Amino acid sequence: MAFTLSVHPFIYVAKYNNGTWEDKLLEQEHLSFEQEQQLSEADKNSLLIKRNQIKGLPLVNFTTQYGLGCFEGVKAYPQKDGSIKVFRPDENAQRMKNSMEGLLMPGISPEMLQKGVMDSVRENDRIGFLPKYNSAWEANNFITADAVYIRPFTYAEPGIGLGISVSPWVISVSTNVSGYFKEGMKSRAIVTDKVRATTGGTGWIKTASNYVVPILVKKAAEKDGFMEAIFLDPDEHKFIEEGSSCNIFFRLKNGNLVTPQLGDTILPGITRKSVITLAKDMGVTVEERKISIDEVMLEAEEVFVTGTAAGVTHLGSFTYKGKEKVFGNGNIGELSYKLQTTLKGIQYGVLEDKFNWMFKI
Ligand SMILES: *Cc1c(COP(=O)(O)O)cnc(C)c1O
Repeated sequence: MAFTLSVHPFIYVAKYNNGTWEDKLLEQEHLSFEQEQQLSEADKNSLLIKRNQIKGLPLVNFTTQYGLGCFEGVKAYPQKDGSIKVFRPDENAQRMKNSMEGLLMPGISPEMLQKGVMDSVRENDRIGFLPKYNSAWEANNFITADAVYIRPFTYAEPGIGLGISVSPWVISVSTNVSGYFKEGMKSRAIVTDKVRATTGGTGWIKTASNYVVPILVKKAAEKDGFMEAIFLDPDEHKFIEEGSSCNIFFRLKNGNLVTPQLGDTILPGITRKSVITLAKDMGVTVEERKISIDEVMLEAEEVFVTGTAAGVTHLGSFTYKGKEKVFGNGNIGELSYKLQTTLKGIQYGVLEDKFNWMFKI
């Protein structure tokens, strides 16, 4: 069965020209949601392929040729009352601006991008393309619940010589995602000697080019039966940095929660920031500092990675230099589970949103 990306009909498009941003929502070709479900596979695919294209985008440009582009991952969650809420879109919009400026592009105003994202979610909801709240999700604390994944990204103007983008597009598309949890999948991770981000480089920017090495390393890890690859620092190969596209936390024997401190080789995750807030609120001591692989192999009792797509995902073991260290009994630990379910509970609106993270569309 062919898999075609199922992009929602409304797409947000902004373009920078002569000192100003102009934006609009595009309504791509679509039928009603129900009618689309009834199309033959071939007809549905051809509709979805068309929907994932915008006329006028140049083939040859600084993004397609040199990876000079950045993006965001934002999620919206169906609520029990039938509404849809977006998790911390203000943070994503601000980080998008920072990333764009890090790539020497004119940064889009965070307020403008946030409004574009919210408007596109609202319109896609209005035409019935977003998932509906299902109380069956409560039974397993929303581990398998559906959500909307929103992907704003930049796209550069035509160019083939080495250059920066001075007149970029910012486009935002969305698609439904179902939280899936592969039953019985072993959550083993391997510590790689490859390097994700270099000192003085672009590791702190959510740029396309940062993903090349992690994608290659993760593929190789999966081939060897691991779910995730863990990167060490680029200079000493001693301190933990990140997973392949997510931040990482360790609960130590002394009860403290440790996550690598931010710097130019670590992506400032919004889930990371949220988990730090939640853990502190639970009375846990959180340390943002360097943590070595040796300390992890000796002291860690729980390990989890965080990201918009991953949420809070526990890792059962690390394999480093051929030796496997199992954390706890290999299953999700107590604090990891508490943080995972608290975050999901806030996102799906069954727990109080006491930090005002959820934005109603
Ligand atoms: C996006 C990303 C994360 C997670 O950030 P969130 O804001 O939590 O989604 C972590 N590490 C890398 C390298 C990333 O690109």
